[in-house]
Amino acid sequence: MATFVELSTKAKMPILGLGTWKELLSKVREAVKVATDVGCRHLDCAYACKNEHEVGEAIQEKIREKVVKQEVGGLHFKLWPTFLEKHLVREACQKTLKDLKLDYLDLYLIHWPQGLQAMEELVDEGLVKNTGISNFNHFQIERLLNKPRLTYKPVSHQTECHPFLRQEKLIQYCQSKGIVVMAYSPLGSPDRPGPWVRHEDSSLLEDPKIKEIAAKHKKSTAQVLIRFHIRRNVVVIPKSVTPARIAENFQVRFQLHLAISQARELTSELR
Ligand code: NDP
Repeated sequence: MATFVELSTKAKMPILGLGTWKELLSKVREAVKVATDVGCRHLDCAYACKNEHEVGEAIQEKIREKVVKQEVGGLHFKLWPTFLEKHLVREACQKTLKDLKLDYLDLYLIHWPQGLQAMEELVDEGLVKNTGISNFNHFQIERLLNKPRLTYKPVSHQTECHPFLRQEKLIQYCQSKGIVVMAYSPLGSPDRPGPWVRHEDSSLLEDPKIKEIAAKHKKSTAQVLIRFHIRRNVVVIPKSVTPARIAENFQVRFQLHLAISQARELTSELR
C-alpha cells in the first residue's frame, strides 16, 4: 500500500491523515496524541475548527516525547475566507503558527473558492511549504490555473468524497494537472452539524452493501471506506476522537478486492 503521495513540488504527503473538524479542546488534544502514537503524520486543521491551540499542544507533547520531530510530516491548515486580504493572510498564518507552536505549515489551503495568490508570499517567506485549494469545482480550478501571474500552482485539492459522491471526473481532472485530491468527510460525516446534515451521507457507515464488502474482508465499514480512497491514490482524512477508532482507521493495509467495474456498479447502486 502506498503510504505517501508525491506532490508536484516533489514533497511527500502521507496518504492517510486525521481530520479534526467539530472537535474542541481536550478531545482533539487526545485524538492528535493517539493518532501520532499509531503512526499518523498528517493532521488536517482549519481556522474554522477553533482548536489549533490544542492541536499545537498535542504536537509539542509528542515532540518532547520524541515520538515525532518538528516536521510532523504533514500539517495541513485551511485559511478561512475572511482573511484573504494580503496583510490579513500573513496575520492569519502567523497566528496559526503561533497557536500550533510551529515554524511552518506543510500545506496551506484556501478553504473556499477564492484567490490563491494572496498566499504566495507566505511560500516565499518559508512560512508555508505548499499551497492548495478546497471546495473548488472543475471550472474554478481551470480558471485559477489559467491565471497569468500564478507563481505557485495548487498542489492539492480538498473536496468531499466517498462512495456516494465519487468525484471521478474531478479526480481525473485534478490528477491530470498534477493536483493531488484529498477526500474529506470520507465516512459520510455522521456527526456533521445542522445545516450540513444530509440523511443519505450519514448512512454510509451503515450501508448494507459496504457492510457486506467489509464482512467479506473481515474489516470494518470505516476501514473499507478509507481503503476505497487509498486504492484510487486519493488522500483521505477521517476524523475521530475515539482512540479505538483512530487505531482502526490507521489499520488499512489490506487489498480491497474490488475491481474498478465492481466499484462503479456498487457505488452507482448506492446512489
Ligand atoms: P468523517 O467522514 O471523517 O466522519 C467523522 C465521524 O465518523 C465522527 O462522528 C466519528 O466519530 C466517526 N468515526 C470515525 N471513525 C469511525 C469508525 N472507525 N467507526 C465508526 N465511526 C467512526 O467526517 P468529517 O466531516 O469530520 O471529515 C473528516 C475531516 O475532513 C474533517 O474532520 C476535516 O478535517 C476535513 N473537512 C474539510 C472540509 C473542507 O471544507 N475542506 C469540510 C469537512 C471536513 P468519533 O469522532 O466520535 O469517533
